[in-house]
Amino acid sequence: MQVSRRCQTLKPSATVAVMNRAAALKAQGVEVLNFSAGEPDFNSPDKAKQAAIAALQANQTKYLPTAGDPATRELIARIITDRNRIPGVTRDHVLITAGVKMALYLTFQGLFDLPEPGQPARELLLPVPAWVSFAPIAELAGAKVVQMPTTTAGGFKITPDQLAAAITPRTRALLINSPNNPCSTMYTPDELRALARVIADKARTTAPDMVVVADELYQNIVFGTVPFMSIGACPEIAERTLTINGPGKSFAMTGWRLGWVSGSGPFGKAFIDALTKLQGQTITCVPAFSLAGLRAALTECQDDIDRMRAEFAARAELIHALLSALPGVRVARPIGAFYAFPDISAHLGRTSAGGRRIAAAADFAAALLEEHTVAVVPGEDFLGDGPKHIRMSFACSQETIREGVRRLGEFISGLK
Ligand code: GLU
Repeated sequence: MQVSRRCQTLKPSATVAVMNRAAALKAQGVEVLNFSAGEPDFNSPDKAKQAAIAALQANQTKYLPTAGDPATRELIARIITDRNRIPGVTRDHVLITAGVKMALYLTFQGLFDLPEPGQPARELLLPVPAWVSFAPIAELAGAKVVQMPTTTAGGFKITPDQLAAAITPRTRALLINSPNNPCSTMYTPDELRALARVIADKARTTAPDMVVVADELYQNIVFGTVPFMSIGACPEIAERTLTINGPGKSFAMTGWRLGWVSGSGPFGKAFIDALTKLQGQTITCVPAFSLAGLRAALTECQDDIDRMRAEFAARAELIHALLSALPGVRVARPIGAFYAFPDISAHLGRTSAGGRRIAAAADFAAALLEEHTVAVVPGEDFLGDGPKHIRMSFACSQETIREGVRRLGEFISGLK
């Protein structure tokens, strides 16, 4: 007996796999310096926790309306309107779901069909390197993922010309993730406007039903000179933009498993209605008491965000300086999110002090964990140039960063 082909061929998440491996080693008493998880080391804000506890005590333990309660949807719609400046968003354009991964899963299910026999699949344009789960989640929905290469020198960003050349009648969606996981770079507002002009232009000619899926999960973790902007704020593509966000990273609420997807205008409303049907046939709704915590986070916890952002900014400087000083390591300066994505390809083909052959980033990461108990995510599953890189989440203390990079340096100097 076998499981479905869909499950057989599905790749496990590389980020979750390293997180689990690091947690298992820790449970065995091994002291692991953990740069794997994209998960803030801070606690969730007190006000959010207190609000959720009060809601539990007030017996907010029943089902909610499928898309989330009206007050929370209203609040999110207001934030998207006022702060993200995306027009045409009401509470009916917002679906609250179980984390950004589920928001993406539902969104791709709403955009793609499994191709008819003999017909080409519709395409997702994915700038790469990209977070490990975008492609598998889109492929589950029937998308063909078209990788759009980006480089360290180009700030890991696609250009308008590159986008124009990639759009065909088969294009259904472009994924934009800014600030970006794993590269920690961002598009400037002008760059986003230029991409939006290309999309609006192509929508008139080649790709009438093309949309943008904007994953803005790291919106509040921005510490360079580039200001955050939502691509959905460009009026010419607002209605064809689906924006995804959640409190996991910026409010240190990863385990609450909350996220949302929003649309704009008539298409956005119809799209959210369709996803709400899907949610009704899958998870039904998110837990009621968690939304009380979410409302508190969104309205009362700006100080927590500011405090965490300041600390991420200091860590970004520290890890960038330390990594840049290592021989054969090139690293872009992180300006948003909390990842360093060093290019370690100068060291591939060598052998570790422990006798391990380092043919690929996966070998590099495995040997580093075995020999120096430093957990990083190998770059292969981030696609594109990813195999030349490792990802180091700096959602950990400055002390961990200093000691982890010191051990990484020791590992590198031991390579023969
Ligand atoms: N998004 C985080 C990361 O990239 C958490 C794990 C996951 O969902 O991939 O590490």
